[in-house]
Amino acid sequence: MKIEKTREIGFCFGVKRAIDILEKVARERGGVETLGAVVHNQQVLQRLAEIGVRVAQSVDDIRGDVVAVSSHGVAPSIEEEIQARHIDIVDTTCPFVHRLQTAARRLAENGFFIIVYGDADHTEVKGVLGWADGRGLATMDEKFIAKLDSLPRRLGVLSQTTQIPAHFTEFVKRLIDSAFTKDSELRIIDTICHDIRKRQAAALELANRVGLMLVIGGHSSANTNRLSELCSTATETYLVETVEEIRPSWFQGKHHIGITSGASTAEQTIDEVLARLEALASN
Ligand code: SF4
Repeated sequence: MKIEKTREIGFCFGVKRAIDILEKVARERGGVETLGAVVHNQQVLQRLAEIGVRVAQSVDDIRGDVVAVSSHGVAPSIEEEIQARHIDIVDTTCPFVHRLQTAARRLAENGFFIIVYGDADHTEVKGVLGWADGRGLATMDEKFIAKLDSLPRRLGVLSQTTQIPAHFTEFVKRLIDSAFTKDSELRIIDTICHDIRKRQAAALELANRVGLMLVIGGHSSANTNRLSELCSTATETYLVETVEEIRPSWFQGKHHIGITSGASTAEQTIDEVLARLEALASN
């Protein structure tokens, strides 16, 4: 059984940066709190907890005088709420997410109503809508926009950083068909992160050549779920968070296995999965 992994695997630039910042602050201060989970990966959160990183569930739940904002970013109103309590902010917002936030703000300031193609419940998306100062919504269903009582004339369309580029393009096309009327003005900005784009392309290329793909990452991680969705269009695909979830029966009759991971999956978890597959292959 041949096992092949994609080159783009393990932490992305933004997650690595956020974890480096947190480790440094935790070392210097003997611990630090984060507002919400800094990444959607239980194994990484456990390792951070061991060096004194505590997750505060809300601004009210912050116990100390410093809090780190996650790589997904937050709305400016949340930052103001924290500052009003004289709590210092360590900002680990990924620069690609910040690019999306500033695009939303600029468009809103120029009179555009913002449509974010993405999951309305995701932390990143909620934060971005905050940067649009309430002049926007998030959806993945263009019909929802077409049904709005009074469709804004100027629409600014952005994407959650982790969405699949081809799906964003399709969404925009359908939006033009259903919601573009006389005098409408549409401004589209591609805000999908470069890392995710490369990671998805590499995963799909490999998925097209193997009999089975394993996508390693958190079950609640948006980018991991997108990767799994994409790979499953090409071949049999399983999303596993830990090595314990692997079932030997999956590999019966398979000669070539592909491996990739979400952007917040630690090297250690990938190594554990690889070791398990190598053991299965040698049996
Ligand atoms: S997936 Fe992209 S946007 Fe998200 S943290 Fe990583 S580099 Fe930043």
